[in-house]
Amino acid sequence: MSEKISEKFTGFGLSPALLKAIERQKYEDPSPIQIQTIPAVMAGHDVLAAAQTGTGKTAAYTLPILDHLSKGSKVRPNHVRALILTPTRELAAQVYESVTNYSRFMPLHSTVVYGGVKINPQMIRLTKGMDILVATPGRLLDLYRQNTVNFQQLEILILDEADRMLNLGFLPEIREIQALIPSKRQTLMFTATFSDEVRALAKDFVSHPVEISVNPEEITVDSVTQWIYPVDKLKKSSLLLKLIRDNHWDKILIFTKTKNGADHLSRKLLKAGIATATIHGNKSQGARSRALAEFKSDKLSILVATDLAARGLDIDQLPLVVNFDLPHLKEDYIHRIGRTGRAGATGEAISFVCFDDFEKLADIERLTKQVLDRRIVEGFEPEKALPESQLDLRPFKPKKPKKMKKPKDLL
Ligand code: ADP
Ligand code: MG
Repeated sequence: MSEKISEKFTGFGLSPALLKAIERQKYEDPSPIQIQTIPAVMAGHDVLAAAQTGTGKTAAYTLPILDHLSKGSKVRPNHVRALILTPTRELAAQVYESVTNYSRFMPLHSTVVYGGVKINPQMIRLTKGMDILVATPGRLLDLYRQNTVNFQQLEILILDEADRMLNLGFLPEIREIQALIPSKRQTLMFTATFSDEVRALAKDFVSHPVEISVNPEEITVDSVTQWIYPVDKLKKSSLLLKLIRDNHWDKILIFTKTKNGADHLSRKLLKAGIATATIHGNKSQGARSRALAEFKSDKLSILVATDLAARGLDIDQLPLVVNFDLPHLKEDYIHRIGRTGRAGATGEAISFVCFDDFEKLADIERLTKQVLDRRIVEGFEPEKALPESQLDLRPFKPKKPKKMKKPKDLL
């Protein structure tokens, strides 16, 4: 065997079945968040960890909990030993895929449940009892109310993407779940950012946690070459088509602000003969999973997504992200461009900026502490010129994150 996992991995004391699975994944060294999290979880501590998407958080909690679960008692029918909560269906599916990969050599039961698909098959699957259940909060509560899931045997609770969960208004559901599960448990909370709201939730959610923070934002921003195209709003789609043709772009993730915007753009691209799909909340779960799978396997060259639908999606080696519209929240700019330039690779991120979005641009430049290069394409010079950027180096005051509209409206 040519590749071997390093002593940094073997040194954690994880069981041989896990090391074999890690080897199978071709991971050589643990990532920084894994180096800090795995020993803390194995020692039985609660953990509160902040690290940006793409830093390997899923393995950071999945590996040590699988190790723990493989040593414990057998799960009883309808019971659950470890529960992983995620804010969206896509993330639930993705985390479940990781759980399956890492536990492939272990005799553990796991499954995933989320809304938007039939509940009955999920109820049937749960009857045999699950060592690990990955769930979105709403569907989990539905299943609980129908008496198909029992938390008495629950030992570990993981809240993934806690900040997103709160932004999406899931606090009541989280509180409800918290009240239903044993208070004597191990709790792990992962977040991309430490907002006041995340801290407030953490207060009585985790107990004496080990706090882990992997300096997030700068990493991604540095490995991604970014520039903008000043352009009039109505000319954005023709500019995009021109750029796709001139540059022979064949694998791009495009972000739009709204679901309608995503549909509208994808219709235009399809009309121009470019294989495109969209993912957003109005699409059925089947359509979303299919679109993502086809994009990952290069059957589609373009995936158009809204922020909420795309958050945290792990797509390997994405060379280019296009911000067709700038995001509602400046922080989402970083999440978006974090889809490229992952794991040491370099990537490019471009944004179309019209006159009305100048303030959003200024916020993004202030957040990323750089003025973005501008490129003008002949024939697309904006009629309403974009003002010059003045870099504002004052940090943003920490403020309560705005409650976003419920996922229905934006996802
Ligand atoms: P996060 O939850 O922080 O966004 P993920 O857990 O989704 O990150 O991991 C991002 C990507 O990194 C995945 O493709 C995963 O397979 C890969 N990955 C995780 N840990 C390692 C590692 N130690 N070495 C190499 N790749 C890794
Ligand atoms: Mg994650």
